[in-house]
Amino acid sequence: MKACPMCKQEKTNEEFGNRKPNKAGKVYLHSYCKQCHVTKWKLFKKTDEFKAHQREYARRYYAEQRRLAKLAKEAINNGTLKDMT
Ligand SMILES: [Zn+2]
Repeated sequence: MKACPMCKQEKTNEEFGNRKPNKAGKVYLHSYCKQCHVTKWKLFKKTDEFKAHQREYARRYYAEQRRLAKLAKEAINNGTLKDMT
């Protein structure tokens, strides 16, 4: 049994869920129960911080796609495509 700091309820280990094992192979439980974890995530998704993060991620993703498309186009134009494999 473990108390969740968010809902202050004692819950079983199954209700917390495991984290990924660390290098030593030890598995720790999540700090918050699954229910609070979902609630926290939902709240976080509404914050400006998350929205900014998403925008930044999308911007980088599209910039990378454009860069690759440009490289591919250049390779085709220069006839160097076969050297890039
Ligand atoms: Zn909780």
